[in-house]
Amino acid sequence: MAVLLRLPTSVSEARECLAEGAVPVGGATLVWATWQRDGFPELAMSLRDVPEANVVDRGAVGGAVVLHRMDDRVPDVLRLAAGTVGTGAVRRTATVGGNLVGSALRCLLPPALVLDARATVLEPDGVRETDLAEVVAKRPVLLGLRWSEPIACAYRKLDAVAGGPPPLVVTSAVHTGDRLRIAVRDGYEVLSADTTYTTGPEQTLTTLRATTFAQLPTDAWTIVHSQVTDLLRRPTP
Ligand SMILES: Cc1cc2nc3c(=O)[nH]c(=O)nc-3n(C[C@H](O)[C@H](O)[C@H](O)COP(=O)(O)OP(=O)(O)OC[C@H]3O[C@@H](n4cnc5c(N)ncnc54)[C@H](O)[C@@H]3O)c2cc1C
Repeated sequence: MAVLLRLPTSVSEARECLAEGAVPVGGATLVWATWQRDGFPELAMSLRDVPEANVVDRGAVGGAVVLHRMDDRVPDVLRLAAGTVGTGAVRRTATVGGNLVGSALRCLLPPALVLDARATVLEPDGVRETDLAEVVAKRPVLLGLRWSEPIACAYRKLDAVAGGPPPLVVTSAVHTGDRLRIAVRDGYEVLSADTTYTTGPEQTLTTLRATTFAQLPTDAWTIVHSQVTDLLRRPTP
């Protein structure tokens, strides 16, 4: 059976498609195999012609933006994370919405968490802002992400072991108001924390170790420790 693919050109047209039951599709890098296995939907919609879903700048990225468009217009932590997803062919096709909402690995989630990003989601009766926890739990249609540019940020992803668990990801960002945000993907679980850092790296790390980060294995904690120490010792730009 053929899928009818709608290409709305505005948020209001996209809302109408959603109200008619259209399912969102990004680059179809994941969904195509699922559709072939489980059957095709009657109606799908791509947000690629909706301007709000195509923004790329220092403080925002649209849900329909393909991963390889995330260049130095976005903070390093997001650019570097996007650059590690799959192969070049996947990154030229896969979208921010497909990664954050539709994939199991969600390599963009830790950077989005340390940027303290807010999500704009599309519903049949309007557009609404929400947090990343709701995006992951309820899988709404993601129109885009918005954040305040951090003062500094850092990213590290370990090499994947063939057939092994997802590689560890450690991300952090320093924000105004002396705030430090950290997010770690350990297996499929993503832990995040927000703390002040005025007491210096060692005290900040001790505070952090008393949060959910206490459950991190020693090798993961070692990477958190060195990343946070380096980030907090960097001269402020
Ligand atoms: C070879 C390969 C390697 C990969 N490696 C990694 C990796 O290292 N790290 C990683 O994180 N991911 C990885 N992925 C997964 C990759 O992130 C996803 O394939 C991709 O992000 C899905 O994007 P897409 O636009 O193609 O989504 P689609 O396949 O079009 O859709 C996937 C799901 O997301 C939903 N969706 C799409 N857009 C939106 C939206 N705007 N709002 C709400 N829901 C939406 C769809 O309804 C569907 O349920 C890999 C994939 C492949 C094929």
